[in-house]
Amino acid sequence: MSAAEPLVIVGASYAGTQLAASARELGFDAPIMLLGEERHAPYQRPPLSKGLLTGKTSVDALALRGPGFFADNAIDLRTGRRATAVDTAARTLTLDDGTTLRYGCLALATGARCRTLQVPGADLAGVHDLRTLDDALAISDALARATRACVIGGGFIGLEVASALAARGAAVTVVESQPRLLARSFPPLMSDYLADAHRQRGVALMLGHGVRALIGESGRVQHVELDDGSRIGCDMVVMGIGVLPNTELAQQAGIACDNGILTDALGRTSEAGVIAIGDVANTVLPAMPGGPARMRLESIQAANDGARAAASALAGQPQPFGGVPWFWSDQHDLKLQMAGLPQAGDEAVLRGDMQAGRFSLFYLRGGALVAAHSVNRPAEHMHSRKLIAARARIDPRLLQDPSADLKSIQRETES
Ligand code: ADP
Repeated sequence: MSAAEPLVIVGASYAGTQLAASARELGFDAPIMLLGEERHAPYQRPPLSKGLLTGKTSVDALALRGPGFFADNAIDLRTGRRATAVDTAARTLTLDDGTTLRYGCLALATGARCRTLQVPGADLAGVHDLRTLDDALAISDALARATRACVIGGGFIGLEVASALAARGAAVTVVESQPRLLARSFPPLMSDYLADAHRQRGVALMLGHGVRALIGESGRVQHVELDDGSRIGCDMVVMGIGVLPNTELAQQAGIACDNGILTDALGRTSEAGVIAIGDVANTVLPAMPGGPARMRLESIQAANDGARAAASALAGQPQPFGGVPWFWSDQHDLKLQMAGLPQAGDEAVLRGDMQAGRFSLFYLRGGALVAAHSVNRPAEHMHSRKLIAARARIDPRLLQDPSADLKSIQRETES
């Protein structure tokens, strides 16, 4: 690719914005266009299910970059614009206003969208999902008139929303179709801990229940009907039943997809000149014994790191995506921090006191630390990230012992 040909980025959230920023930092000097279909300039998403709903965070505080950032870095940000088609042979992109753009490199950072519930009544007024700032503003607005809320889905989004709605004084019920919370990410011990924690803080949980229908009156939701015929009365419903990657542009262009756009550790797709980053990318991961070869990591860290890796390749200094995946979630007074990807069969070692809400669970595979889940233990989380990256082999008795200093264990591992 010649340096003069533009980089066109479709999707202006974390991955797209970071790609533009990193490309400029690394000296990429061709034109950069950053297209976002939302009307807002790039903004921070974690507060949408947390502070924006509780009122602790204002919309003004959400900007992802300072006011002059895009102009100062010669990044042509276009909001409220959708890309509708890609022609990889001609290297052109068509927009929803009919414009056709030529690209040297096309970056698909199109993210994911909420899965929708396929049941009668899902289109009633008062039924929300949460992905965008406008979705969060609509939920916050509805909450001002609601006293009872039903959250469908006991994953991260559902549980964060449940916590925020409860903090605003609503009576909240979470309906989860699996027999336990967060089954996709957590082993049963953590799921059970969180279920107790939510119940103790006043959130009702209906586990192992599907939703048969949403029932309304005058077009507005009034009840959630479960698979056993029982009904939960509510003034509003928020669905958090997971997301689907926005692969349409890639599929239409014949780019290889399988639960997201398939990429290597530099974001490269099956089509030369097209890269994919962020939630839409199903990316090759660094080798970890017994770990997955590739994954669609739905996290800000993965979006930013994937974008940095892709930018490094664009700038001719390739640094593949690596590092330990990490995530966080705030639920009630609990700060959950997660590092690595535990699996069934890993040895779980507890450090701290679950009942007191301050602990870490470490996961060992073949004697090496592969993952850790921490609750209100930020220092342990930070150490665990480094220890996992070093594939540290640690005696479980040391991990368990609160008087054993993880920092010195980390230093020994590094030396
Ligand atoms: P997110 O990160 O968007 O919260 P997750 O995949 O972590 O997504 O969580 C979604 C949760 O929703 C999962 O626990 C899943 O079992 C649950 N779920 C999916 N479909 C339904 C449904 N129809 N009713 C209730 N829960 C559902």
